[in-house]
Amino acid sequence: MKTAGRIHPVYAEMERTVFDRMSALAREHGAINLGQGFPDGPPPPALIEAASRALHEKSNQYPPGAGLIELREAICGYYARRQGLELAPEQVTVTSGATEALAAAIFAFVKPGDEVILFQPAYDAYAPLVRRAGGIAISIPLSPPHFRYPAEALDAALQERSTLLARSGLPDPAPVKPRVLMLNDPLNPAGTVASHAELAMIAKACVEHDLIAICDEVWEDVRFDGVPHRSLMSFPGMAERTVKIGSAGKIFGLTGWKVGWMIAAGHLATAISRAHQFLTYATAVPLQWAVAEGLSLPDAVLDEQRNGWAEARARLKAGLTQAGFVVLPNAATWFLTVDLVASGIALSDREFSERTVIEAGVASVPVAALYQGEEAPEHLVRFCFTKPTEVLDEAVARLARFRETLTG
Ligand code: PMP
Ligand code: GLN
Repeated sequence: MKTAGRIHPVYAEMERTVFDRMSALAREHGAINLGQGFPDGPPPPALIEAASRALHEKSNQYPPGAGLIELREAICGYYARRQGLELAPEQVTVTSGATEALAAAIFAFVKPGDEVILFQPAYDAYAPLVRRAGGIAISIPLSPPHFRYPAEALDAALQERSTLLARSGLPDPAPVKPRVLMLNDPLNPAGTVASHAELAMIAKACVEHDLIAICDEVWEDVRFDGVPHRSLMSFPGMAERTVKIGSAGKIFGLTGWKVGWMIAAGHLATAISRAHQFLTYATAVPLQWAVAEGLSLPDAVLDEQRNGWAEARARLKAGLTQAGFVVLPNAATWFLTVDLVASGIALSDREFSERTVIEAGVASVPVAALYQGEEAPEHLVRFCFTKPTEVLDEAVARLARFRETLTG
């Protein structure tokens, strides 16, 4: 069969994700995988026990499409306790990972021709999903090393549309203006966190321009700055226009479980739940029971896990710094970013990542892969630190030797 022109253009040109590619290269070359983000340590035993108990004792048949009521209640309890949010289970839809939640929210709210504001760098699913829905991604680049949210650029992205519209001179021009804004806070890959003032500025823009905010907060509980996470949803006027997305994969370090959720109010909640019913309909039920138990555990369990990640983070940062790499400041996620130029390395991020996985035996992620278009910096490489001490030490030793071969 001739397939030219038969495949949707979004998929016709698409490569495998950078995460999948780097993990495959790591396997092929026997490299230490600090690329794709996942922890190597043991998961909290209580969740493994809860999942195996559920397999034996609970139903293994379809759960309600929106998720077990026990899990939806546990999600509400969790956010009441940790973020002071007042939510009802009817607002929550359980999804197969945050990735499905992103797809459902985008499919629910982005119509052909709608503009969607994205900040870059961004999780690589955002722009293709927007395009698949027929939307137009308007990207606002965030600049390293601090990745602050530029109020002027956001304002311009919003204003320019109306100016263009006014200038179009058409008697009855189709309304071309952003309808949706996507925010990822804390931000993968940078590991930075939006300040209160930045969130307030973004919330104000959403209210003034009547935008729906799709807020990907999967890293909300992987913060090392001691500051409690605050959701965009909690800002004035935002409860009615925000979809808040979370993931048990990140909270418990169980990325392969693919249990996530999305939360919204009123008609928005109904719409995303409808989108979900024809993406997956429902999510693996034993894992839903286990996540419900996990979210109800004492905070000390999560604190212990995070303390372990914090130690790994400090170890990788110290090791890389000692080996002459310059690590950018950040406060969250499982990732540290190295500035190649500041580290005296004259390779682009892609060259560095491709060469280190083969020549040094360490996989990483080139940050440019998480930008669309021309705006990508080419001097930043992301390393995942949630690995055992000896793995991190060996990775640093290999990277140090590789750096010496480059810098003499
Ligand atoms: N959003 C962001 C910002 C992420 O970093 C990730 C995973 N790393 C996801 C969404 C996807 O989460 P899940 O595995 O739960 O689908
Ligand atoms: N987002 C994860 C990361 O940043 C990977 C997710 C995936 O591979 N789909 O590494």
